[in-house]
Amino acid sequence: MVDNSLKMMHPKDQIIMIIDRIYKKGFTTTSGGNLSVMDENGDMWVTPSGVDKGSLRSSDIMCVKSGGEITGDHKPSMEYPFHKAIYENRPDIRAVVHAHPPALVAFSIVREMPDTNLIPGIKEVCGVPGYAKYHLPGSENLGTSISEQFKAGFYSVIMENHGAVVGGSDLLDAYERFETLEFLCRSIVNSRIIGEPSSLSEKQLLAYKKYRVPSLPEMETVFYPPKEKEIRKEICKFLQRAYHQNLIMSSFGSVSVRWEDDDFLITPGQGARWNITPEDIVQIKRGECEPQKIACKSYLLHQKIYERFPHINCVILARPDNLMAYSISHKTLDVRTIPESWIFLQDMENVPFDSCINGEDIIVSKISKEKPGVIVENDSVLMTGSSLLKAFDRLEVAEFSAKSLIMGTSLGRFEPMNNTQIEELRKAFF
Ligand code: 13P
Ligand code: ZN
Repeated sequence: MVDNSLKMMHPKDQIIMIIDRIYKKGFTTTSGGNLSVMDENGDMWVTPSGVDKGSLRSSDIMCVKSGGEITGDHKPSMEYPFHKAIYENRPDIRAVVHAHPPALVAFSIVREMPDTNLIPGIKEVCGVPGYAKYHLPGSENLGTSISEQFKAGFYSVIMENHGAVVGGSDLLDAYERFETLEFLCRSIVNSRIIGEPSSLSEKQLLAYKKYRVPSLPEMETVFYPPKEKEIRKEICKFLQRAYHQNLIMSSFGSVSVRWEDDDFLITPGQGARWNITPEDIVQIKRGECEPQKIACKSYLLHQKIYERFPHINCVILARPDNLMAYSISHKTLDVRTIPESWIFLQDMENVPFDSCINGEDIIVSKISKEKPGVIVENDSVLMTGSSLLKAFDRLEVAEFSAKSLIMGTSLGRFEPMNNTQIEELRKAFF
């Protein structure tokens, strides 16, 4: 993904921005993990060893010069030899992220390979991961076993009984790969509690990759009235919130808001979702797009929803952690288990994956005033609402319900609400 936002930042500040994100997302402990960036001079900037990853400052970042000299206030990461070995073997890699995120570590201790064919786009971001043999942390042998995997062409490597290490063309690229791999592992772990994940065929994945919605003609003149600008800000605020709540990912998630008539504002097709600014949001007016901007690939689905349902003013397409377990295992979310879920979601249906390809109308046909959301198998969750806040709230309710159901499955048999109780809810709330 092309994102130029790091270009003008000092490598030290890039590292601080990403380590902060890694810590806040729960991908590392206080002492675990390390990050590095290789600059144009061949100097490597790397996190210090054993210093609190939750409160690092730019002045804590160490530099290992191309000649071997080390500068900075601490010791460089004990894993800096493996970072160095990766850069030596892969000139295309300019940033490395290593940490111990729980779901990836779960795979690393059972030595299983996460299936990258479960959700489209995952293989494009992460590649198929390599596996590095276990060796003592910080040892030369660990460095050799990891760099051999990178030498073989992998961009992501799972380290037996330890964690993962990924490389990227810059730190955002590496972080996105790292986050996506952990998301995949979390979805698989959750789906195994409620069923079995069901893989996509190569044919389905290829059809998805090739599918292009028609590109929109560009408008000649663009107006930015105050209300329009307000919506842009609102979308960005909720994108960050949704990212923080694990509802969307860096590389996936679109939010749109109806502006006037069937015109709307939508997230762009590029850029880390948490880094999108109001200027990046794309205006779509009378079937024309703001010049020199690319709307999210799902814009046609959003457009069709606004055209069909005058009461809907916001559409969110997301990949929430727990709902994705339902999406990839093709299980239905039993919303008749708690009043909040049923009131907000009614019976949330699953639609088959193939409707992602030229099947916008199929997805739209599953939505109604009573049923605001659908689960798209192996792909995503679609939620709608009369406002951004309402759609966001419903998405959170759906995700919390999925989490409770997954947790409940590990405890025992459910006691769902009976028909009389559902009728009672219908009378009271509709
Ligand atoms: P450092 O704090 O030395 O980088 O070590 C953390 C780690 O993850 C070791 O594998
Ligand atoms: Zn480690």
